[in-house]
Amino acid sequence: MTRDPDCLFCKIAGGEIPSDVVLDRGGVFAFRDINPQAPTHVLLIPKEHVRDVSALGDSSGPILAELVNAANELARSEGIGSSGYRLVFNVGPDAGQTVFHLHLHLLGGRPMSWPPG
Ligand code: AMP
Ligand code: ZN
Repeated sequence: MTRDPDCLFCKIAGGEIPSDVVLDRGGVFAFRDINPQAPTHVLLIPKEHVRDVSALGDSSGPILAELVNAANELARSEGIGSSGYRLVFNVGPDAGQTVFHLHLHLLGGRPMSWPPG
């Protein structure tokens, strides 16, 4: 398992830094965002260190499927499966990425506008 000892989300997935865990299964770890932008705001990460989605490739199908399946399942358990939700990967500066360990934002529980700010 690739791990970066200086990475915040590697430390969260490893339990070295506490978080509000909502799912820990297979290669995926999910926890509530510390600065929520919606009533439900969960971050889903691979336990393996990956910088962002641009670092994924042809062999990344299984981890992507795990992340999306877990996000759909959490949306249902959070009660937003029918009202709707947004899944977001921020990549790089223009998208506002601040943590360089791949994470999928699950946001919901309020109407959201488009285009995003
Ligand atoms: P991004 O801007 O896509 O890189 O998202 C990083 C997210 O990580 C932001 O929404 C932060 O609020 C969130 N975040 C940063 N530190 C923590 C932490 N210790 N626990 C939970 N969420 C965090
Ligand atoms: Zn990491």
